[in-house]
Amino acid sequence: MRIIAYIYTDPLLESAPDSNIWGWEIDRVYQDLGGRQQLKQLFKDCIAEPADYLLIRRLEDLGDSVAEVCDRISEIESLKIQLVATECEIPQQLQLLQLLQQIQYNQRRDRIRQGHARNRLKAAPPPGKVPYGYKRGKDRYILDRSAAPVVKDFFEQFLLYGSLRGAVRYLEKKYGKKISVSTGQRWLTNPVYRGDTAYQNGDVISDTHVSIISREEAAQIDRLLRRNRSLPPRTASATRSLAGLVVCGECNSPTIVTRVTMTRKKQEYLYLRPHKCPLTPKCRAIPYQEVLQQTIEKICEELPLAVAAINSPNIDGIKQKFNQEIANKQGILDQLPEFIASGILDVETAELRAYKLRTEIAEIKDKLAQLPPVNLQMVAQAVSIQQFWLDLSESERRFYFREFLRQVKVRRVDGLQTQLIFIFD
Ligand SMILES: [Zn+2]
Repeated sequence: MRIIAYIYTDPLLESAPDSNIWGWEIDRVYQDLGGRQQLKQLFKDCIAEPADYLLIRRLEDLGDSVAEVCDRISEIESLKIQLVATECEIPQQLQLLQLLQQIQYNQRRDRIRQGHARNRLKAAPPPGKVPYGYKRGKDRYILDRSAAPVVKDFFEQFLLYGSLRGAVRYLEKKYGKKISVSTGQRWLTNPVYRGDTAYQNGDVISDTHVSIISREEAAQIDRLLRRNRSLPPRTASATRSLAGLVVCGECNSPTIVTRVTMTRKKQEYLYLRPHKCPLTPKCRAIPYQEVLQQTIEKICEELPLAVAAINSPNIDGIKQKFNQEIANKQGILDQLPEFIASGILDVETAELRAYKLRTEIAEIKDKLAQLPPVNLQMVAQAVSIQQFWLDLSESERRFYFREFLRQVKVRRVDGLQTQLIFIFD
């Protein structure tokens, strides 16, 4: 008894299965990738050496149209080969029509998916609604001149104040553009505004169109989002620069900012109150201005040292390695047209290769963005001057504090003692 099998795979849609998928002992496996040369060979061979069984996965693997599939089924019948499909049933006559319709439907669906897959290979925009701020150009997204500045302004507001709700409110106030907080959240992380395209299969390709925010801004947004996540939700948008940062050094309770107004003097005093203090008597409130003054003094003193300690050659080394990997992959990408011209690669293979390379480059760029900023040392120098901090508004100060500080611990020992815990400690 002679058993043969035929596997058809569309390389755009799936990778070829292992040829041992059948669970039968097979005399010969014929396998096609995208074309059907091996199927023709199979028929030729069967005339010379008849087979008893032909195993396939699905009926539609036999041809690109219903007519082709039917022709081949009858050809198989005329060769007296028993056809066995492992992933679908072979129908009785009555069901045949239904089945043919199903095949037609599957093939149409595959053609649509192939179209999408081809678009992905060419890094063309995915189907569906175009993200706000862009328009659909010939083969890529282009900026929508009236909407793009609105999106840019939204990002700038978020970067300055670190508050998503604040940035959403700002859009409505300034432009009358209403978006929900969850939409704002999606904008902040949407690859499209960073010049990248994300496809439904999860792949991201970088630099497919003009970005609205720079890589540096994107990395800063990611850091802010990570930081806000670890802060109590209400303090993330509170107006005071130290809100949510200070804990009581005695009992580790977080603090809230309270305001005390002296009615006669019309002057207000701010205090940090440890509101979850378990001790009796409770720890006393801490004068806000004094902590702020000490925090500024300490940050100027300690930040350059803290940064010097982390910006070891190690991070530079990692960056260099990533950049080298990107350069290598870019080098291969640049050579692909040559390979096509000289006939080493056909166009489809080259496109598939280019697609994979672009996805890999995007992944490395993403890793790079997660590393501390290159110019951290320079930034640390620039902000380690008291006047810099004193000149800022409270909300600007809060933004910069969050870039560097995880926590401020305050103890009462001969007055106040402030200890800074840096993000990178
Ligand atoms: Zn306490």
